[in-house]
Amino acid sequence: MVEKAKNTGLVLKEPAARCNDKKCPFHGDLKVRGRIFVGKVVSALAKNTATVSWERRHYITKYERYERRRTKVHAHNPECISAKKDDLVRIAECRPLSKTKHFVIVEKLGKVEKVEGIEEKPEETAKQKEKKEKKDDKKEQKVAKERKGK
Ligand SMILES: [Zn+2]
Repeated sequence: MVEKAKNTGLVLKEPAARCNDKKCPFHGDLKVRGRIFVGKVVSALAKNTATVSWERRHYITKYERYERRRTKVHAHNPECISAKKDDLVRIAECRPLSKTKHFVIVEKLGKVEKVEGIEEKPEETAKQKEKKEKKDDKKEQKVAKERKGK
């Protein structure tokens, strides 16, 4: 008999895989309630756990502007979803699953593009720096030549 995945009460794409995880909102006993967020997986090293981070805007009254703040939570990563680092995921609040986990990943939304600005690639910045330095060198050389010419 093919067991149907449980209805989570959310409008989501059900995971294609199946799992025996008790703490899975589709195939286990876990109920989701509360807030829902979309974030990026910054770490998925711990077993069945992912660290999810997203940006929010915080208003500063004095300057009448927003600053960017980041929220980071631990979320349960069911085996049927098994999100990897840099995945964009939707997480839903649930009962406390451990000391620090009270969210569960309910949907994978694909990969995060690096352009989003959540995390900059150190390699790129290094390359850019090199380019800049090269340009500067050329400029200096030109200046030196001109001086010599005079
Ligand atoms: Zn599952």
